[in-house]
Amino acid sequence: MNDQKIYDVAIIGAGPAGSFLAYQLSVHGLRVALFEKEKLPRIKTCAGGLSAKISDILPFDITPVIQKKIYGATVSHKFQHIFTKYTDKLLIFTVDRGDFDHYLVQYAEKKGAHLFDEERIKDLREDGDEYILTSDKQEIRCKIAIGADGAQSFLARKISLNPISRSHFGLQTEIPLDALRPFDFNTIRLDFGRLRDGYFWVFPKKETASVGVIGRLRDAVSLRPHLSDWLKLLGVDPDNVVLRGHSIPHRITHSPVSFDRIFLIGDAAGAADYWTGEGIYYALKTAQMLAGHIAAYFAGDQHALAGYERAMDRETLSDLRSSYYFSQAFNYLSAYAFKLIKNNDYPWDVFCRIMRGERTFSELQQRLKPHMLLNKIFNKKSRGR
Ligand SMILES: Cc1cc2nc3c(=O)[nH]c(=O)nc-3n(C[C@H](O)[C@H](O)[C@H](O)COP(=O)(O)OP(=O)(O)OC[C@H]3O[C@@H](n4cnc5c(N)ncnc54)[C@H](O)[C@@H]3O)c2cc1C
Repeated sequence: MNDQKIYDVAIIGAGPAGSFLAYQLSVHGLRVALFEKEKLPRIKTCAGGLSAKISDILPFDITPVIQKKIYGATVSHKFQHIFTKYTDKLLIFTVDRGDFDHYLVQYAEKKGAHLFDEERIKDLREDGDEYILTSDKQEIRCKIAIGADGAQSFLARKISLNPISRSHFGLQTEIPLDALRPFDFNTIRLDFGRLRDGYFWVFPKKETASVGVIGRLRDAVSLRPHLSDWLKLLGVDPDNVVLRGHSIPHRITHSPVSFDRIFLIGDAAGAADYWTGEGIYYALKTAQMLAGHIAAYFAGDQHALAGYERAMDRETLSDLRSSYYFSQAFNYLSAYAFKLIKNNDYPWDVFCRIMRGERTFSELQQRLKPHMLLNKIFNKKSRGR
């Protein structure tokens, strides 16, 4: 076909990963095509919590799409022993994901990225030193192709990459604030200990709150009755809510996230925190890392692209793996850990610092060594058998 448009980079998926990459590459003057299968703005199943450290990454103001600023957490253990901790500095912003994601896309478009929404990419093939991407409406050519197409990435499957070592499942609903049994809506509400590997949440926004539960993907069917119990505790009739669920992918062991000039970012690369389920920060961070390497490549550094995978391992894998170890230790010792957090400010302070980007899970792992604690626990258990 000789009417195929030609781009430097084609990005599949206009979530935070894809749209932020499109923005940055357009700033560098590259020709960028951004494909999204849904009509934008689209609904996205998400609690909409952005940790405060997101401000370190985003080069523009997101005030217009902030729903609420959160300064604390109201926490319980197995639905009991509730307490609230506060912090002076901002902890989390909440957003409506439809609005937030669309806002990022609009920034990318302003810088020159070409958006094709309501266009699903269905195929990719190689042609010399270019790729041809086929959507349900057209074919385009590009030098570099990006899978920012989420946890069920089409592109990862197409090129046989599988960076996701574990998965959680999140189930949630949106409830008007005035229908919830009140707590301080300037805090998030969390409950631990009831699920083996997960937690319950309420993330307040301006007028509604995301109410949900995260658990292991293999336990997904049991999450619905758990969420019903959580909703009842919050004063909500579980039979009168619309539930939405989605998997949350985690890359906690090394596995390829690129092949030739094809790269995965965000959820497609398994870049979501194991303990908290936080994926938006990592979607933006992986986009930021890859943008630097692609810009250097087009500026003439032929070896620049190889650096992305190393940067992923250095800057995200170590943190995601450490978070996994902490979550396992926390879940195993949940009653004790809960008391520790309730009665001491140090763990709360550390959590706040991680949310603000002043500490990382991997730094903490070097100091507290939760993996050694886990080894001890599990060795003791196997000796006892
Ligand atoms: C219930 C739940 C609650 C969550 N809460 C939080 C939270 O509070 N904070 C947080 O940080 N993270 C949260 N997450 C995780 C977060 O939603 C993801 O990590 C984040 O959306 C990843 O961004 P992304 O850009 O990589 O992918 P996505 O946001 O999933 O975007 C991928 C996009 O690709 C599009 N697409 C897919 N295939 C194609 C195709 N073939 N062609 C064209 N387009 C395609 C999709 O339509 C989608 O718009 C939650 C997840 C769940 C399930």
